[in-house]
Amino acid sequence: MIAQVLVELKTKGIDQTFSYHFNDTLIDKDLVGRRVLVPFGNRKLEGFVLKVDNDYDTGYNLKEIISVIDIKPVLNKELLDLGIYISKKTLTPLIYCYQAMLPSALKAKQGFYVNKKYITYLKLVDNNYIPRSEAQKKVISLLKNHDYTKSELQKISISAIKTLLDKQVIVEYEEELYRISNNSEIVKANIKLTEEQQIVIEKVSNSSGFKPYLLFGVTGSGKTEVYMQLIDDVLNKGKEAIVLVPEISLTPQVVDIFRKRFGNKIAILHSRLSDGEKYDEWRKIEREEVSIAIGARSAIFAPFTNLGIIVVDEEHTMTYKQENNPKYHAIDIALVRAKYHNCPLVLGSATPSIESYTRAKLSIYELLTLTHRVNDNLPKVELVDMKEELRKGNNILSSKLKHYLSECLEKKEQAIILLNRRGYSTTVVCHDCGYKVICPNCEIALTYHKKTNTMKCHYCNYITYKPHTCPECHSKHIDEFGLGTEKLVEEIKKQFPDSRVVRMDIDTTTRKGSHERIITAFQNHEYDILVGTQMISKGLDFDNVTLVGVIQSDASLNIPDFRSAERTFNLLSQVAGRAGRASKEGLVIFQGFNLDHYSIKCASKHDYEVFYNYEMNIRKKLDYPPYCNLTSIKIVGSNLDECMNEGEKITNFVHNNIKNNITILGPSMAVLPKINNKYYVQIVLKYKKEQELYHILINIVNKYRNNKKVYVDLDMAPLKL
Ligand code: ADP
Ligand code: ZN
Ligand code: ZN
Repeated sequence: MIAQVLVELKTKGIDQTFSYHFNDTLIDKDLVGRRVLVPFGNRKLEGFVLKVDNDYDTGYNLKEIISVIDIKPVLNKELLDLGIYISKKTLTPLIYCYQAMLPSALKAKQGFYVNKKYITYLKLVDNNYIPRSEAQKKVISLLKNHDYTKSELQKISISAIKTLLDKQVIVEYEEELYRISNNSEIVKANIKLTEEQQIVIEKVSNSSGFKPYLLFGVTGSGKTEVYMQLIDDVLNKGKEAIVLVPEISLTPQVVDIFRKRFGNKIAILHSRLSDGEKYDEWRKIEREEVSIAIGARSAIFAPFTNLGIIVVDEEHTMTYKQENNPKYHAIDIALVRAKYHNCPLVLGSATPSIESYTRAKLSIYELLTLTHRVNDNLPKVELVDMKEELRKGNNILSSKLKHYLSECLEKKEQAIILLNRRGYSTTVVCHDCGYKVICPNCEIALTYHKKTNTMKCHYCNYITYKPHTCPECHSKHIDEFGLGTEKLVEEIKKQFPDSRVVRMDIDTTTRKGSHERIITAFQNHEYDILVGTQMISKGLDFDNVTLVGVIQSDASLNIPDFRSAERTFNLLSQVAGRAGRASKEGLVIFQGFNLDHYSIKCASKHDYEVFYNYEMNIRKKLDYPPYCNLTSIKIVGSNLDECMNEGEKITNFVHNNIKNNITILGPSMAVLPKINNKYYVQIVLKYKKEQELYHILINIVNKYRNNKKVYVDLDMAPLKL
């Protein structure tokens, strides 16, 4: 027999498989989707078997497969086809698509092994044996009820166990021990659904076959409960479910709620797990030991074979798009998988992406709505203009926010304050000559961190000490400027010395489990105020939070990207949605200098519809998605002129090959022109139909694949420009 094997090679042409001979009396014929070890030149490589053919005389002397790595396929038929789809859609070589779909331990890469952990059990097999000692008697009587672990029974007597094993009265067997155990108690749901929830659930449960839904439900409208009821239904039919959440570590509460409802039927997949843990969770799915997979983006590849529903929570979240190759979007994959399994797909959000809502308007998705909060009470939002506050001498906390904070603390309620910048201050500047300390690798201002007295680059992680004097003019007046979360906490503590404040941003959550610890401690009211970056805006549900403050609500509008208004609206709506979710009423303060912007106005009125219409008008005028498709081509290299030159060549190439219906912007410096000593030049293509462009882009990618000077990075549907 002959196997077609796909291996990872950096320099070869894309998607070429290599043929290897194998003897089907020695190796199981059914090799497709399994990994094999093959000789390649003078190396040995791991690869995926994509096809098996009967032996025929090729005229070549084919080499033999060295060994078969997997007992069962790691890629079934559905996943093999899915890889081909991703490869075509993102113009990424097939091998990288398969690698991205699998946990590290199952990728076709050599030298990667995960230890399996085993636990040894004892079982009674000879019921007629008459015990010769007290210890033997005790062991046998225990084993008559059920099997025990060897280590536990050895506590009674090591020698008795040995004797019984030798005489084959008992036998031992091993079972794999998973690194994450699911030992939560199942709590029966005792919730009376709201009328709106009921209608939504009925619609989805009664739909037959593939159908994509957009569940547009305001914050606190009980979307999670809807998901769980739908999943319960699916499980009762003997089918499986995938639930995507933006980031597991940020949403431990959701996982908790699911655990309480579904107990050990859940596998958890996300990036903060160790490779061993990921491998374990994957196998729980593959062995059909669980029927729900909850996880971030890559959980969409969970190898279920009988899916009954896919849920994508907070569907507008940017992290559903993978930023490196293959640059797939999890919603695209969800659509393909739901179609394959002929099941519903539910995309849920309080602030659907402009694209998704447009699809709902075009009836590509069926729109489902939850217009009321479960408590029927959306929080009131007040805007505070900081220009006036500055005159009063308040540059961080407005008098209003201070007033409500003290009220909140008095009532023993809790507050969340968002500032989407970490560190102490944003820049370090000389007062005398204006010198600004920038990163030597990135040409971006360094952020001062007071705790460590260092300045850090948030792009390349460059770190240096803060200078005592200005490197340019030697003045001593070199100071921090601007505001970050670290300084905000300091200010709050100064104003409210008795309050207990906790900060959550990248700097306070570097250790595994630190997100969960902060969230749990805040939930248990060990802190009064939670300060953080956008990390704290997603899906958190604290019933005692009645006040939310946003410092610099308009900051994200300054990012030069056509989606910055949408992102600002989402961020503000989501964080506002953390206030007053239970019985107590919520209040929200948006502080800023430019509060007239429609994204802030609409967020303050909880008015998605008006925001959507306004934004669509602008997108139409400027011709941006969803009115056109975008492709970004980045040329990356250590020499700026070379990048620009190649950029010109690519622009000309596209221009000469496509005449109509395309707008070519650039080449120009990217928004961040230099990161980590590499220059970024960007070309943006706008067009209606992608068919003819496709071949030209493949051409470009192939041409630059082995270029030593510049790297061409293609994104067929960029979320950020
Ligand atoms: P969303 O995801 O829409 O923001 P959640 O699903 O987190 O909202 O629900 C908000 C809160 O309301 C949660 O604490 C949840 O337990 C509760 N809840 C949901 N549905 C109901 C219901 N039918 N009756 C009472 N409480 C509910
Ligand atoms: Zn100076
Ligand atoms: Zn840097």
